[in-house]
Amino acid sequence: MIRLAVVPVPLFASSLDRYQPAIAERLAEVAASGRWILGPEVDAFEREFAAYLGVRHCVGVANGTDALTIALRALGVRPDDEVVLPSFTFYATAEATVNAGAVPVFCDVDPETFCVTRETVEAALTPRTRAIVPVDLFGNVAPMDELGDIGVPMLEDAAQAAGARLSGRRAGSLGDAATFSFFPSKNLGGLGDGGAITTDDDEVAATARRLRFHGSEDKVVHTEVGYNSRLDALQAAILRLLLPELDTWNEARREAARAYEQHGLGELGLALPRPTQGAEHVFHLYVARQERADDTIAALERQGVSARAYYRTPVHRQPAMRAFASGDLPGTEMAARTNLALPMGTELADDAIAAVVAACETALAGVA
Ligand SMILES: *Cc1c(COP(=O)(O)O)cnc(C)c1O
Repeated sequence: MIRLAVVPVPLFASSLDRYQPAIAERLAEVAASGRWILGPEVDAFEREFAAYLGVRHCVGVANGTDALTIALRALGVRPDDEVVLPSFTFYATAEATVNAGAVPVFCDVDPETFCVTRETVEAALTPRTRAIVPVDLFGNVAPMDELGDIGVPMLEDAAQAAGARLSGRRAGSLGDAATFSFFPSKNLGGLGDGGAITTDDDEVAATARRLRFHGSEDKVVHTEVGYNSRLDALQAAILRLLLPELDTWNEARREAARAYEQHGLGELGLALPRPTQGAEHVFHLYVARQERADDTIAALERQGVSARAYYRTPVHRQPAMRAFASGDLPGTEMAARTNLALPMGTELADDAIAAVVAACETALAGVA
């Protein structure tokens, strides 16, 4: 017999309902100001987010994909340079690399952390490697300490890890530069698209600022062929409103992760998410692993619990990436085949967690 969860449990259990009056107020203020493009809201958000992360510079751009392309170019990546990045990531990490003119070289991940390791990165290095892009996947943090200094710039793709820490330092402050996305579902999300580049390097920041504005510092002289890619003032105003909530939200996510364990999720035959050494995970997604993941997802859905797979076709096997062949990536294939995301968010009540764990028990009994 199938027991339905009392109330269906969504995969993304977060909501901005509480903030709607404050959001409406901020939008009205920006509308009244008439300052739509860059200007004081964007400046203020850039200062506040840089201070939150403990970095010198934040450059707001239109989305997290542009942030990667612009950051790679600002770090000195030129056409035909190689960039090492994991295949087990959101497609945009690789797409941005190609759009910067570079050649993506896919490296493997540790299927337990879903992140690259020193060993997997080293296996992909060649004399043409010009940058490495470790990804803080699912809210975990790539092992930037362990990667150390490989002699080429490190660009941390922190789109899924706003607020996470590694050995006390914030994700987004760990490499030579980092990128964020403020897509609504990310841990710090706006009301549409948005992104940022963060760095301690004055030169990288200055180049990124030019590239986001048609390769110009003063709107008169254009020194590079750049982009029109700016963080919108309306989004910046909303992000300023929500940034002070980020730590509380992330703590709620971590509390939900602890509750999954307290309710016995780890005893059912699922491999639970494992933070990299020294990482404070922020559970953008709560991604477990299991051999028959698709059957388990279907069995959960039948019980009213939303679950889904991420990146079943890893990037190196996507049709658009055919030109960039890679060797075997066994950790990537295992992660791609076995992962399943369970409900996670800032508003996941303990009884919902208990319902998910009970549904997992039923599902796994059925597919074991
Ligand atoms: C969301 C995401 C991006 C792209 O961000 P957009 O704002 O959607 O362009 C890049 N990398 C990773 C890992 C992401 O999760």
